Amino acid sequence: MSKQIAIDGPAGAGKSTIAKRLAKELSFVYVDTGAMYRSIGLYMIKNGIDIHDKDAVEKASEKADVSLKYIDGTQHVILNGEDVSDQIRTEEVSKAASVVSAYPQVRKNLTALQKKLAESENVVMDGRDIGTCVLPNADLKIYLTASAEVRGKRRFKELTAKGEKADLTEIVEDIKKRDEADMTREISPLKKADDAVEVDSSDMTIDDVVARIKGLYD
Ligand code: C5P
Repeated sequence: MSKQIAIDGPAGAGKSTIAKRLAKELSFVYVDTGAMYRSIGLYMIKNGIDIHDKDAVEKASEKADVSLKYIDGTQHVILNGEDVSDQIRTEEVSKAASVVSAYPQVRKNLTALQKKLAESENVVMDGRDIGTCVLPNADLKIYLTASAEVRGKRRFKELTAKGEKADLTEIVEDIKKRDEADMTREISPLKKADDAVEVDSSDMTIDDVVARIKGLYD
């Protein structure tokens, strides 16, 4: 049986940074499931499909082939043969991912792919429904959270470091909206699994959080 660590939580809680570090230290494979939903969002944008048209998105998503590739241990997302790892990191794609991720067919396809990945490899997988739906029998489940203000500031720093224009108030508002949508959608909403350990990273360093989770896993 492969080993599984599930990390769920709202946008900007530090899931990917922590999951990546943890995976490296444990020699597990890091699986960023948000990147898969982002790729589907990107596909709709690129093909001019209205993301609010559920039927159109579900139909088009059948033509969007998403896979993961690892180069020097780093995850790359491949959409119909194209490496879209950088293109999926825009605010426009974040919003599109949140909308399309509420559609059943999109979730069904990606959940199946995620389960399959975790069958053959030891994984640290992050997302919104990993502990509740994708890996219900994970060896360790973490619900990683932080205040919306702290999460907004982190995102702001990330964007400005990349030279992108960013407005902190707008980012905090967008984060709150995205969380609200993720937490209230009908299928697989973001919520803490009953057996997940909640970690609030607001006042913790990355090292603190990694050490805490490793301590829980050992
Ligand atoms: O984690 P990230 O911010 O990249 O995820 C983008 C969006 O994809 C989230 O806002 C959420 O709507 C969706 N998502 C999801 N289930 C997951 C991972 C991400 O619905 N397991």
